[in-house]
Amino acid sequence: MIHYVNIRTGSRNEMVDITEKIQAVVENSGVKDGICYLYVPHTTAAVTINEGADPSVKRDILNTLQKLIPADAGYAHMEGNADSHVKSTTVGPSQIVFIEDGRLLLGTWQAIFFCEFDGPRHRRVAVKIVGQ
Ligand code: ZN
Repeated sequence: MIHYVNIRTGSRNEMVDITEKIQAVVENSGVKDGICYLYVPHTTAAVTINEGADPSVKRDILNTLQKLIPADAGYAHMEGNADSHVKSTTVGPSQIVFIEDGRLLLGTWQAIFFCEFDGPRHRRVAVKIVGQ
């Protein structure tokens, strides 16, 4: 069974901490030990895991992606969001997190971020929980 977590993003480029929402899906599943698969079914968004304590980290990540992948760089894709597609593939559409004692096995400073690269939009993340 796949659960969908809905996300409303507020700007074109944004990292949204979805750790608590994913943890809630894990708790509702009743699985104590297993694997949580996260998948983003969008071509201009992604999911990543990084520091959630200091908000300047996600700002640095977004600023660096912007420098590496500028909005206008002579792209072939004519929809005006080629940079969004390239960022999506660079960061990637999926993550795997282990579940231990009913909790996502994240490091002390880690958080799960939905990465918006062509917002604001309504988005969703597919979550599959597999018990051991
Ligand atoms: Zn496009």
